[in-house]
Amino acid sequence: MAVVNFNISSEQQLLLEEVNALACGWMAPAAEQSGEAGEKLFFDGLITSLAEHKLLTPTVPQHYGGRGLGYFSTALVLEELGALCTSVATVVTANIHAASPIILAGSTKQKETFLPPLACGKTHLAAFALTEPEAGSDITAIATKAYRKDNQWVINGVKEFVINGGLAHFTTLFATTDAKGKRASLVAIIIPKDINGLKIGAVYDKMGIEYVRTTKLILEDVSVPGELAIGPRGSAYLLLMQTFDRGRALAGAVGVGLARAAYEFALQYSKRRHQFGRPVFTQQAVSFALAELAAKIESARLMVWKACWLIDNDMDYTMASSMAKIAGSQVAQEATAMAMDICGGRGYLKDWPVEKYLRDARVLSLIEGTNNIQKAVIASLL
Ligand SMILES: Cc1cc2nc3c(=O)[nH]c(=O)nc-3n(C[C@H](O)[C@H](O)[C@H](O)COP(=O)(O)OP(=O)(O)OC[C@H]3O[C@@H](n4cnc5c(N)ncnc54)[C@H](O)[C@@H]3O)c2cc1C
Repeated sequence: MAVVNFNISSEQQLLLEEVNALACGWMAPAAEQSGEAGEKLFFDGLITSLAEHKLLTPTVPQHYGGRGLGYFSTALVLEELGALCTSVATVVTANIHAASPIILAGSTKQKETFLPPLACGKTHLAAFALTEPEAGSDITAIATKAYRKDNQWVINGVKEFVINGGLAHFTTLFATTDAKGKRASLVAIIIPKDINGLKIGAVYDKMGIEYVRTTKLILEDVSVPGELAIGPRGSAYLLLMQTFDRGRALAGAVGVGLARAAYEFALQYSKRRHQFGRPVFTQQAVSFALAELAAKIESARLMVWKACWLIDNDMDYTMASSMAKIAGSQVAQEATAMAMDICGGRGYLKDWPVEKYLRDARVLSLIEGTNNIQKAVIASLL
């Protein structure tokens, strides 16, 4: 087993350089534009570049044409993307989330059908559909029903807040086979794009991560071949928990990246901005706030790294992953709020990045299970 090592390998260093090189050219133009123009630049530019580098779903195993990155390396990528644009990092985490159940428990045919397109060099998005109007934190309240008819699964229900909704080439969807909502009745089913009965709701108008297309999905007698259920019957709840436990560490990495970006911006500004005849950085109130942030960002990063190391080494990662998610999302909110204070009135302006950082950070304590749910997970293991 690998010993703990805080050195980034030469391959990981090259990976970071690759991500930064491809992201830099596209991010600034996309960030400067808003609305449809910005969204078009976002998808035609950065997302397309990531796809060309097989980094839209970096966890797809090499056997299926992917980069086959472990979670530690994926976290490094997501910290960089989080620092550049939370929207793009969120699209990547959604793809990873949708692919995860297939990688973990999919049949050979499912893997051969659905994984290679995610790593083919072209933009292939995937979606993960769990949340419903009455089932947010409480997934035992899932009401989307799946029943067997001949060799098919027939699915009816409504899913909310689906990232990549309407764009995804497939959706990994969780439904129940039982009215009583028992865990064992959960089933994970792959829903291909453009299937009869799948309707895409309106795009949600969100506070932040505006380029992340998020919609409702309405399923009316959607019928898919029985072989599209993932894993053995009764195993979907466990699969869902494994998917969450892995994804949460990566959500933490996005938070660390966003926190880093806000912190670095505020640090540079505080050294440039003179008041009372000297840089505001020389005021201890400012430099101590930045010093504290630097320490918190480093601490969250190490928690993310530890969780990802445990995942890569197939050790118990549930608690570490929830802790990493809390740490990353909290430091992102703290750093973006502090960056706005340090930048003063200018930080509040739309043409400065800080207000966008702050709006984007707000979502991180809500997605992948709210931070209260992470605390419930941790408490259940104490
Ligand atoms: C931008 C965005 C993108 C999203 N993308 C996806 C996606 O791609 N796929 C998907 O399936 N879902 C997605 N979600 C949904 C997200 O996972 C849920 O919003 C989240 O799980 C919380 O559910 P809820 O909103 O129904 O809140 P609720 O569960 O109603 O919670 C409301 C409040 O009560 C608290 N609470 C609830 N239960 C407990 C408890 N037991 N202990 C303590 N506190 C509790 C919560 O922490 C929260 O503060 C997305 C959400 C957003 C905002």
